[in-house]
Parts: sequence; C-alpha cells; structure tokens
Amino acid sequence: MAKLQSGSELIFRVAIALPVYRLFDYLAPYNIEMTAIKPGIRLEVPFGNAKKIAFLVECVQHSNIDISKLKRVERILDEKPLLSTKDLALLHWASRYYHHPLGEVFSAAFPVALRQGKSAVIQTEKRYALTELGKALASEQLKRSPKQKSVLEKFQAHPNSLSEAELSAWNQNWRSAVKQLMDKQLLQLVAAAPGINSREPIIRNSALHCNPQQQAAIDVVSDSLGQFGVFLLEGVTGSGKTEVYMQIIRTVLERGQQVLVLLPEITLTPQLEERFRQRFTVSIAISHSKLTDRQRTRAWLNLQSGECSILLGTRSALFTPLKKPGLIILDEEHDASFKQQEGFRFSARDVAVVRAKLLNIPVLLGSATPALESLHNVDNKRYRLLHLPERAGNATAPVLQLLDIRNKRMQEGLSEALVAEMRKTLAKNEQVLLFLNRRGFAPTLICHGCGWVARCRRCDANLVIHQDEGILRCHHCGQEQRLIRQCPACRTGELTPLGLGTERVEKVLAELFADKTIVRLDRDSTQRKGALENYLQRINQGEVDIILGTQMLAKGHHFPNVTLVAILDVDSGLFSIDFHAPEKLAQMIVQVSGRAGRAEKPGRVIMQTRQPEHPLLTTLISQGYSCFARTALAERKDASLPPFSYQALLRVQAADAEMPKLFLDAVVKLAQEHSKGHTHILGPVAAPMARRAGFYRYQLLFQSSKRPELHALLDVLMPKIEKLKQANKVRWSLDVDPVDLY
Ligand code: ADP
Ligand code: ZN
Ligand code: ZN
Repeated sequence: MAKLQSGSELIFRVAIALPVYRLFDYLAPYNIEMTAIKPGIRLEVPFGNAKKIAFLVECVQHSNIDISKLKRVERILDEKPLLSTKDLALLHWASRYYHHPLGEVFSAAFPVALRQGKSAVIQTEKRYALTELGKALASEQLKRSPKQKSVLEKFQAHPNSLSEAELSAWNQNWRSAVKQLMDKQLLQLVAAAPGINSREPIIRNSALHCNPQQQAAIDVVSDSLGQFGVFLLEGVTGSGKTEVYMQIIRTVLERGQQVLVLLPEITLTPQLEERFRQRFTVSIAISHSKLTDRQRTRAWLNLQSGECSILLGTRSALFTPLKKPGLIILDEEHDASFKQQEGFRFSARDVAVVRAKLLNIPVLLGSATPALESLHNVDNKRYRLLHLPERAGNATAPVLQLLDIRNKRMQEGLSEALVAEMRKTLAKNEQVLLFLNRRGFAPTLICHGCGWVARCRRCDANLVIHQDEGILRCHHCGQEQRLIRQCPACRTGELTPLGLGTERVEKVLAELFADKTIVRLDRDSTQRKGALENYLQRINQGEVDIILGTQMLAKGHHFPNVTLVAILDVDSGLFSIDFHAPEKLAQMIVQVSGRAGRAEKPGRVIMQTRQPEHPLLTTLISQGYSCFARTALAERKDASLPPFSYQALLRVQAADAEMPKLFLDAVVKLAQEHSKGHTHILGPVAAPMARRAGFYRYQLLFQSSKRPELHALLDVLMPKIEKLKQANKVRWSLDVDPVDLY
C-alpha cells in the first residue's frame, strides 16, 4: 500500500466482536507507514462512549458513510498480524459458512487477553528441574511435608524440566513447595525445553513394536505429510490409536513441524499429556477452558512463535496459530463436544479439515465409533479409512449382552441377575462399573395423593431431586428450591421420587454392598477442583470396588481392573425424537463398553433392557458398530436426512410468548421469496422444550439436498433477518449443520 497522500483519507474497514453482520469503517490513524499495515492486525477504536478492540479486514478508499461522520482509529496494537494469511482466510471462510459475524469469529480465534487488546509479547516463564540430589532422593524422606513430597514425585515422573504453566495446570498450589525444595537444593532453575528449532533428540523412550495394522496406518499418514488429506482411524478402544498418533507425531517433529491435537474433554488432557511427556522431549502446551487466561495466552503465543511443538487442547484450541504446521489430530472425532453449542456454532472437526486444506497438511481423525458423517465421507472418497480391527497387546474385546428385565424384580434400577453378576466379579477382586446417564436422586417428584409434579417455574421441565443437598434443581436453568416434604397442592398426599438418578443408585449400592467401596462420578460429585483426579487415582490404585457414573465415564478413561460394565437403563436412549439419537446411543454403548477389560482380563458388558428385540441393540451386539452404522446410514438416506441432505436451524426465543413465532413467520415469508426448489423450509414450530429459563422458544429448519443452494439462501436471508422489525424483540441464532435439534 502506498504512503498516505494528504487530502485523500484512507479508510480502515474493521470487524468488531458484536452480534451484527456488518463491518465498521474508521479513518486511518494520522502519520502511519502504510506498508506496515496488514489485514488481521488489532486496533483500538472509539465505539459509542467506549473503546473497543477491532480487527483490520481491509483498507479502502471509499466508505458508504459520510467521511465527516467517521471516527478515527486510535491505536494500532500489532506491528504485524498475529495470524497467517491462511488462518485469516480460514476465519473468513468460517464466518461465511456458519453465517456468523466476522468480528465474533475473529474474537473466538484469540485468547481473552489478546481479544482485550493486551500485548502479544510472551512473558518469559521460569522452568524448574531436579538437581542431582533431587533425582536421587527417595520421596518417602519428605513424607512429613506431603506437598513437597508430591511436587518432588511430579518432577521425578518428568525427568526433564517443568514450567510455571505446566505446574499450575497440574496443581495451583505449587509455589511454596517448589521454593522450599529449591532451598533444600533438590530443585533448580533451568533453561527452556526445546522448541521446533532445536537439535535435541525428540524421543525419550522408544516406541512400541506395532502390529501390522498399526504400522500400515502410520505409514499411510507419514507418507502424506506435507500435503492435504483426511484420514479416519477407526479402531476399538485399546486398539492402539494413541500409539499410532505418537509414532506419526514423531515423524512430524523430525520434519521440524508442529502438531495440534484436539480432544473432546478437558479431563482427558492429563492422561494424554502424561503419555506424550513420557515419549517426547519437546515442549508441549495445553489449552482448555479450565486454565487461566494467562496460561492460555502463553500456550497460544508459544505455538505461534514455534517455542512449543505440540498443542493439546479442546475445541477452542483449534484456531491457535502454528508457526510450522505439520499435522492436526482429532481424537474421538465423533464426540458431540467438538460442536460448539452456543454463539459461534462451529464444528471443530469440519473446520479442522478446512484448515488443513488451506495449510496443505493432513488431518487424522480417530474414533472407535466414527460419526456417520465421517463414514459417509469415507464412502464418497473424501476421507481415507484406516482400520485397527483388534485390541493391541493381549487385551481381548469385551462381550456385550442384553439382560431382559421385563417382569423382573428390580431394586432401584438393579435387577437381581445383575446384582448376582456384580457379586461374582467383586469376589474375584475385580472392579464393576455402572453407567446411568442421569445425575441427581430422581428426575421427578410426584404427589402420591393428587398427582402434582414439581415443575420449574421458568422451564417446561420437571425439577430434579438432589437429596444430598436437600434441594430441587432445574437442570436447564439452574433454578433451585428447598426439597419440600408436603404437597403444595393437596397438602395431604405423600411426595414420592419417581425414576432413577445416580444418587439414588448410590444409596442402594451402599446397602447391597455394605463392605465395598463405591465411587460416584458425575457433574455433582466432581465439582470441587481436583475431585475427579482424586477419584480416578483411587480407582486406578484399586481402592474402589464399584464405580457408578454418568457419561463422564464413557470418555477415554482407562480402568484396567474393570471387568464388568453394566448399562442400567439403555432403553431411555431408544425413544428420542431427534434423528441423531440412535447414533449417539450406539456410540455411548460402545464407548462405555470400551472401559471394560482393557488389560489382560476379559471384560463383559451387560445392558438392562425391556426391549431385548430392538433392532438397534441386536445389530450392535451381534454385528458391531460398523454394521450398525451402515444400517443407520441407509435409514438416513431413505429419509433424506444428513449427511444425505444439509440443514441449518434457526432458533428464536423471547420473553414474550407470541414474538418468536411472529418473527419466524416473517422469516419464512422472506425465505420463500428467495428460495429455489431444493430447499425446504420446515416450521416454524415450538422448540421441543418450548419454554426455558423464562423464554419462549421457536425454531425453523432449513433443509436442502444441495448444500450450495442452502447456503445461497442463507447468504441473502441472514442480513435481511437482522433488519426485520421484530428482530430487536427476540434473540435468535443460526446453527449450521446442527447436531442437536433442540
Ligand atoms: P487407544 O488409543 O486405541 O485406546 P492405546 O494406544 O491407548 O489405544 O493402546 C491401548 C494399550 O495397548 C496401551 O496400554 C498401549 O500401550 C498398548 N499398545 C498399543 N499398541 C501396542 C502394541 N503394538 N503392542 C503392545 N501394546 C500396545
Ligand atoms: Zn398432592
Ligand atoms: Zn428451569
């Protein structure tokens, strides 16, 4: 760009994180060197009475707004853009594809501190390592100060150094103990771990000897480094996917490139981090929402500058800039948490594929239960399937069984046959895992006298009984009230809990298995920081006999001594109105069963059901997930449902009961004017939960057999929707490729 001529004003067109589609024009700052001005730099601009951070989109000569009305950019925050041209292109693509305002998309790509305009300079952090003395000391000698002992053990488990951030991610209270250990000359300050430019060896301990299927997968992906390609690694739990990842990562690191690894769950990062640190000497960064802003900013900048070679993170880490990108891995690619469910509703899997294409690198998607979309992409040759059909090492696959509980005596959800099986397993000193995807004591409180039910005042939902806390709580809006003893309607009837939650099952387990140790893992029992880690540790050390939990258990955790898994109520998943439900149920069953018999001991999975002939269950058990997936895909095809068609869901809510429908009626009218033959406009209909947190909710579904046509319609429609006269009276959001129709 040329130096600014006096007389003509140059205009900065910027994106600001606001829920509006338009961009904003500002006058360029005085006296700037235009050669240094590149799209993507952060700016500070006056906005109303405040200042806001903006992202430069382009410099233009003309504005549609009278130049005398334009305000001037106050400050330029970056000398050069923090994101590469390709990553900027990715954000533009995502904004267009998800029909989400560019400013908010930009904002999502940056850590909070940088969004707020803080400086993008890394504060150097201290690193600590053991001294010779510290390496030799038996940690038992510190047993009188447990904190120092645990810090020493942490270092002894990590023979190289640990940074402040890594220590904080492990345990927030490390500082005083580290200082005391330094005073005792057991720890010392050291220089940083090697980044991508280092010549240090990359591998610490050697890789496992792979079986032929693993080796084939490693070879295929390794041969494709340096070019775009999507690989779907389908392998049952324990088939050695992580080992495959690590051996490919090694090759990427040897090429001097970086790897981005995305996981569905924060709680899974420590396990994988541990395995990676055992294997690699390079610097590894972690990024997820439980870290502080400072920690996340540092991880982001360390990847951007090349200080770190591997980033392990959740969905939001997807946009982290990489100095030398080599590979993106998404583990458990089927997991719904890769889809952001509020605000900028992107699919981390789909955006990762687009990002890899722009960067010209491969993406590796791994799962025991691939998403139907991904299998469909294998069928139409967009993804390449790599298969690990067997468990690695000596582990054998668990046996799945249905337990018909029709007309059987049940005690709080446990059949006598199941209890007997549990006793047998426990007698062998093996662990039992029970899965029930409902927390709380019971989902409903009902009056035995008059039928009154405790409802949430703000939602179309029942209040859930939380007996331990003595409250009734709405799981949709969080509203709470004291657990009542008397029916407010008839004042005489007895209030009875209806249905089962984990709390209730825990109580009956404590009676039936009085001499056993039981642990309940759900969102309520693991709220306290460190609680989950503590439970997992106790389980792995064999201190726990029975593990009871919700979907938290379905993901990734290794419980090597569990040999019996029981799904207490598989039927509740069979009757959802959402067409995604069978897929999610099948994935859940297979994932939960993956927890059984991971080591040498074979595992069993028992599913209690009143639908023993249900085709989903029988197909899954007799023919496995792949067969189930084939059948489910055929059904989707017959019904013209995704992935054989494309959807976008417009959700609307308002405090006023009429407004959402009025608004959507107006949208339908607009849409019909612009729609071509292949796009169906379904609705408006009341949302499955028609009222939530006091808001009335409606939705409108767009579905098309042709993706470009759907998007062409949304392209014209969305900016017009924003200007409808009802638009200010409702809150609305568009969900492209929704995974949940609620
Ligand atoms: P996944 O990620 O598919 O669940 P992992 O990579 O965690 O599988 O492997 C499961 C277990 O099998 C781990 O304990 C791992 O060390 C072991 N393992 C993986 N590959 C091999 C192999 N080729 N030979 C022996 N053991 C293996
Ligand atoms: Zn009553
Ligand atoms: Zn509620």
